[in-house]
Amino acid sequence: MAVPAPPDKPAARPAPSTPSGLGVSLLAWYDRHRRALPWRALPGETADPYRVWLSEIMLQQTTIAAVKPYFERFLALFPDVRALAEAPSEAVMSAWAGLGYYSRARNLHACAQAVAREHGGIFPDTEDGLRALPGIGAYTAAAIAAIAFGRPAAAVDGNVERVLTRLRAIADPLPGAKPRIRAETLALVPPDRPGDFAQALMDLGATICTPRRPACALCPWRDPCAARAAGMQESYPVKTRKRENPVRRGAAFVALRRDGAILLRTRPPKGLLGGMAEVPGGGWSEGFDPASALLDAPLDARWKRLTAPVRHVFTHFPLELAVYVASVPRSEPAPEGCRWTPLSALDGEPLPSVMRKVIAAALEDR
Ligand code: SF4
Repeated sequence: MAVPAPPDKPAARPAPSTPSGLGVSLLAWYDRHRRALPWRALPGETADPYRVWLSEIMLQQTTIAAVKPYFERFLALFPDVRALAEAPSEAVMSAWAGLGYYSRARNLHACAQAVAREHGGIFPDTEDGLRALPGIGAYTAAAIAAIAFGRPAAAVDGNVERVLTRLRAIADPLPGAKPRIRAETLALVPPDRPGDFAQALMDLGATICTPRRPACALCPWRDPCAARAAGMQESYPVKTRKRENPVRRGAAFVALRRDGAILLRTRPPKGLLGGMAEVPGGGWSEGFDPASALLDAPLDARWKRLTAPVRHVFTHFPLELAVYVASVPRSEPAPEGCRWTPLSALDGEPLPSVMRKVIAAALEDR
């Protein structure tokens, strides 16, 4: 008599601490807790490379809350990569103004033009192809390749570094530990859902494995996490101490014409805040000498210095600007390289946050 075949056994679950076990538990968590974001495809939908790319560029060094209105505005103004490529650069810079790190906006525009011109309006679908485009670094290329094209890529940013150094208790300090973290991350990427894995890691780092007081009790990796087992979560990642950046100082001159116009100019295309609008001023340096500040005034006028300087913090240094204000007649011509702009048209100017602060301080003092 034939022996009946045993009933099918359910597939064995991989052990929680193996790469596939970690992938399974993270994706199961993601399927329940994924964040709904305007640029994110819904389950079962195909991600749009333009939206993924735009959001990843905007999110560099900026919060999701800050990016959302800009993302919506960009999509309304430039619904696809060709529309963005064909837009005048002033329109792109104006739509970006306030989001900071303006070289990203210039690279964003250059990237759209390269995709339109060299790739027929279609984003390359590999990490290498994406990395060759302006403004796309290793992280962004991997994120787009994984999310938009399902490539098995390791998208490692600061959030992922934090999660992985804790999971594996990597004590080597950053930035030296980056290659190891990247290799550890790549080893975890499940071949069938690399895009979801990348987004799941982003969500885990942003909502559970936070820099302070991570919510380990809610974490899908709480059992295999080495840092948690040792009670050392907040000791990771280990970082090499950075030198403090000294304050730079300078002067900003707000000339107001009696008919309600303000004197502006455009910064050189390259360098910090390149291509953005500003009120005239001198250089910014640690050795700024207030006694000779008026030498940089754009025109002869009775300049009044505001009591309090305007402070702003850039990524690499804090800045303090002494603000000088003058009222000038409507007949005053604009000096070379400058232009008079009606105050009512300021919203259309690509003014960075620091310049908006300077102008607000000057107008408040009138
Ligand atoms: S258990 Fe805690 S420290 Fe470890 S990955 Fe999860 S949230 Fe981060």
